[in-house]
Amino acid sequence: MLEDKNPKPLNELEELGEFGLIQHLTENIKLKNPSSIKGVGDDAAVIEYKDKQTVVTTDLLVEGIHFDMIYTPLKHLGYKAATVNLSDVYAMNATPKQITVSIAVSNHMSIEGLEELYEGILLACEVYGVDLVGGDTTSSTSGLIISITAIGEGDKDTLVFRDEAKENDLICVSGDLGGAFMGLQLLEREKQIFQENPQVQPDFSGYDYVLERQLKPEPRKDVVDMFKEIGVHPTSMIDVSDGLSSDLIHICTQSNVGCTIYEDKIPIDPSTITAAEEMQLDPIVCALNGGEDYELLFTISLDDYNKIKDQKRVAVIGHITSDEGSYQIVSKDEKIHQLTAQGWNSILKKD
Ligand code: ADP
Ligand code: MG
Repeated sequence: MLEDKNPKPLNELEELGEFGLIQHLTENIKLKNPSSIKGVGDDAAVIEYKDKQTVVTTDLLVEGIHFDMIYTPLKHLGYKAATVNLSDVYAMNATPKQITVSIAVSNHMSIEGLEELYEGILLACEVYGVDLVGGDTTSSTSGLIISITAIGEGDKDTLVFRDEAKENDLICVSGDLGGAFMGLQLLEREKQIFQENPQVQPDFSGYDYVLERQLKPEPRKDVVDMFKEIGVHPTSMIDVSDGLSSDLIHICTQSNVGCTIYEDKIPIDPSTITAAEEMQLDPIVCALNGGEDYELLFTISLDDYNKIKDQKRVAVIGHITSDEGSYQIVSKDEKIHQLTAQGWNSILKKD
């Protein structure tokens, strides 16, 4: 890292060097899980799951594509980079235990900035009981790149996949939808105002909830714990990263089934509705296509309805049909519309 054919004054990162930097960022890490045998410091980490199945998932975040340094505090970025991976492990009905963190850093980045990034990553590790056991560090000639891999454990009998939803199963979703998308729209709006007139300070008052949904998503460990407590085994599950429509269609295509959901059952927080209306967006379209909510979308057998119906954190929004390839939403006026797997671009093009 950090070799330069045209000598110029060293910045603080270059002074520290790659090994110094890794040492600096990881020196206070203490392993907490018995399955983490060896962490940072050797050629490879060692983990041991004994009679469990191992779940592995990776995400890559690129500055300018997945995040904007103008409005993303680095601590939040670190927290989110970790939690979106943990969310994928929970979506398998498994428990994350370790992560590895790889970063490519440009020399515009300060040590303090990287410390903040790691503070966020390590906070997520603390909150969700995960060990940071390794990673890689290199330089980048463009922006910051972060790749996190999460490793977790699950029982063979309780892991949940996307491809086992059956006709008549109920479609359920945790929490509420569309908030993260509205948070992003607000941040983008204020960025534009700021770029046109740097004197104007951003005004985010009253928008805490949607901003938090965008900047600091929490994976639904509590919902996975709930399944255990109430004895429900979802027939399929996915985390809502692309938007309810796309992610539900993923379940249906992989399970060779169709679905019907009901507009009036889709959970949307009042502050998401307020923000959407203010920006002339339809809240239901934001909930369907917004993405990044990191809620759990899952199906359960009808027999389990009684176990789930009083759970406040879960809404039943529809059911699975045998009509393969047919994805329907019934609007409040009882008209049937087709769900399509649109990304958020289509929302903004709406007239
Ligand atoms: P190698 O040359 O074998 O890839 P490194 O010098 O890259 O070794 O890494 C040394 C140790 O530090 C390894 O245990 C590695 O997992 C860990 N490590 C490297 N970069 C990071 C990072 N950004 N965050 C956490 N651990 C890291
Ligand atoms: Mg390395």
